[in-house]
Amino acid sequence: MSDTIQDNVVVALAYTLKLENGEIVDEADADNPLEYLHGANNIIPGLERALTGMRVGETKHIQVAPSDGYGDYDPEDVEVVPRHHFPSDAPLEVGTAITLADDDDNYIDAVVKAVSDESVTLDYNHPLAGKTLYFDVEVLNIRPATQEEIEHGHVHGMFFDFEDFDEEDFDDFEEDFDDEDFDDEEEDFDTLRKN
Ligand code: ZN
Repeated sequence: MSDTIQDNVVVALAYTLKLENGEIVDEADADNPLEYLHGANNIIPGLERALTGMRVGETKHIQVAPSDGYGDYDPEDVEVVPRHHFPSDAPLEVGTAITLADDDDNYIDAVVKAVSDESVTLDYNHPLAGKTLYFDVEVLNIRPATQEEIEHGHVHGMFFDFEDFDEEDFDDFEEDFDDEDFDDEEEDFDTLRKN
């Protein structure tokens, strides 16, 4: 009974995400759809709610307010860091997204908001915080989630997830994919294996 989108189904979605000014900030097409587990907070709440009950082949225009999207913009969530805390060759330009790691290997994403000779202003808000989001979606496929997917709270698709990872999966993956994306994945993999 999974002909409509409901909790514990895996949905394949094509979508375009635009901002109020019409700028496209994200999209997925039928060749490379977004697959997610419905009802598990895999996607923003406003989108998940609006998709509930849709059927394969249906399209919809969905407007999501910041409070149902990536939250309101918090002007306090900004930090001024002395310039000498960064390596001299760090690519510090306004608008650059960077990932910072602390000594405990905790990672935090930031966007460079301002740069001077003395300091760098980092913005920890999500880049889409405070924005109203305009989605055009098309439901491509709906299938029941496996018990394992439901327990994990995410989709087990063609790309492995590190949580379940073993060497055999990696060999399969290596045979199937030999492109630039794979090289990136492999680097991530090496990093994770050290931990
Ligand atoms: Zn998993």
